[in-house]
Amino acid sequence: MNHCFHCEEPIPEGADWSFEWNGSLRQFCCAGCHAIAKTLVENGLDEYYRRRTAPAVKAAPDENAIELAKAYQDPNIRKARVITDHEHIELHLYVEGIRCSACVWLIEKVCLELPAVIDCQANAMTHRVLVKLTTDEAVPMVLERLQTIGYRPHVIRADEDSTVREDRALLKRLGVAGLVAMQTMMFAVGLYVGDGQDMAIEHGRFLRWTSALLACVVVFYAAVPFFRGAWQNLQHRRLGMDVPVALAIGSAWLVSMVNT
Ligand SMILES: [Zn+2]
Ligand SMILES: [Zn+2]
Repeated sequence: MNHCFHCEEPIPEGADWSFEWNGSLRQFCCAGCHAIAKTLVENGLDEYYRRRTAPAVKAAPDENAIELAKAYQDPNIRKARVITDHEHIELHLYVEGIRCSACVWLIEKVCLELPAVIDCQANAMTHRVLVKLTTDEAVPMVLERLQTIGYRPHVIRADEDSTVREDRALLKRLGVAGLVAMQTMMFAVGLYVGDGQDMAIEHGRFLRWTSALLACVVVFYAAVPFFRGAWQNLQHRRLGMDVPVALAIGSAWLVSMVNT
């Protein structure tokens, strides 16, 4: 089976995207990878393919990313998210799709070609990119540029470090939920075994109430992101994934509380 020249994933049956590069016919898995490779070659950036040590991420047309670039055409949004020094604008990005040092080379080169960009530093380990600009009006352009060469930029503020913090908070909540679920299961086993050996009623009640209490901890601590997401969805009058999840957690909790 042939593999995509850009992302090295298998090319599906009947796919017909290809062009000649460096003396041989290169085939692609999808229109997206084909378009990115074309862009790189036509803009003299095909050096990327010689430098890279890892295949690129498969192209994924991302509506959110396009919306994002559009949103940053609004000066108010830019003001809230971009740091203004006295001399220049600092745009802090978290960029998905950075795989190797050639990605860093490519991102820096593409950004530095924009007239408004004074400096650009990408980091292959942290996937962070710092772009220094003369004007914040160039922010949507930077975002668009990175998308056309196959990366997914997210704007973050250097001081809030939002992506990292959100990930950590989420992990912590998952950890608590897991621990409590294990503990509750142990109590439940105690209850089943106890039933068979006519456990003292007080003991049974104690275990049941402790389980209920722990369930409350899970629902009110670990599930907070779901409830928050659901609430935001409802405010914007749309049904996201968080709404059914929050409903399920909420109703399961109610039923089990009534049973206790
Ligand atoms: Zn591909
Ligand atoms: Zn790379």
